[in-house]
Amino acid sequence: MSRRFPLVLCYHAVTASWPSALAVERETLLRQVRSLLARGYEPVGAEQLLRSPANALHVTFDDAFRGILAVLPALEELGAGVTVFACSDFADGGRPLDVPELAAEAAAHPNDLATLTWAELRELAETGVEIGSHTVSHPHLTRLGDEELGRELRESRERIEAEVGRPCRLLSYPFGEHDPRVRQAAKRTGYEAAFLVRARGGRRDEYALPRVSVYSGDGPLRLRAKTSRFMRALPRR
Ligand SMILES: [Zn+2]
Repeated sequence: MSRRFPLVLCYHAVTASWPSALAVERETLLRQVRSLLARGYEPVGAEQLLRSPANALHVTFDDAFRGILAVLPALEELGAGVTVFACSDFADGGRPLDVPELAAEAAAHPNDLATLTWAELRELAETGVEIGSHTVSHPHLTRLGDEELGRELRESRERIEAEVGRPCRLLSYPFGEHDPRVRQAAKRTGYEAAFLVRARGGRRDEYALPRVSVYSGDGPLRLRAKTSRFMRALPRR
């Protein structure tokens, strides 16, 4: 089994008005993607992602914040494949991601934490953006009972397929939290793959695929270190 996997970037919000590690400015993000393409990474869409070599690049956005609309056309121009992971409960009306961990931030920056509506997600899917599941309500999956865990994974997938009109194949674990039971449930629910928020060593597991999360404090040197093959293959600490 190969330990190598395409470089999958994980971003959250794209905005200059929310001072948060989760919020990256549009120009910064584009500069980062351009520099990786200049280093020889080949952009791939979600369709090819799971069969792609280690020099492939894919860009993902967790939480489906509405601000990402500002950067998606430019990413499309660069040829970058994009997946957006949405929570089905929040796409009903595109309400801010006011989960307990972000409630104060959502109250202070409601526009920055607003999420994409079903109509917007549908439009994105029509331009070739893959819409994946980030569960129904963004819970800590490892803390849920079996029934609730199954519901979060199944209902979000069914809702996305019904609203977007395309297969929902990919999952991103909220907070990157997973364990063998959660991974097993993701597989049973019919997802083809599920993503973490960090690098991971060891055997390849389609339900624990590594990503490189990019935060607002990551300058060029840190991004370079994070995306180097060596760092990506390091065992999880
Ligand atoms: Zn999230």
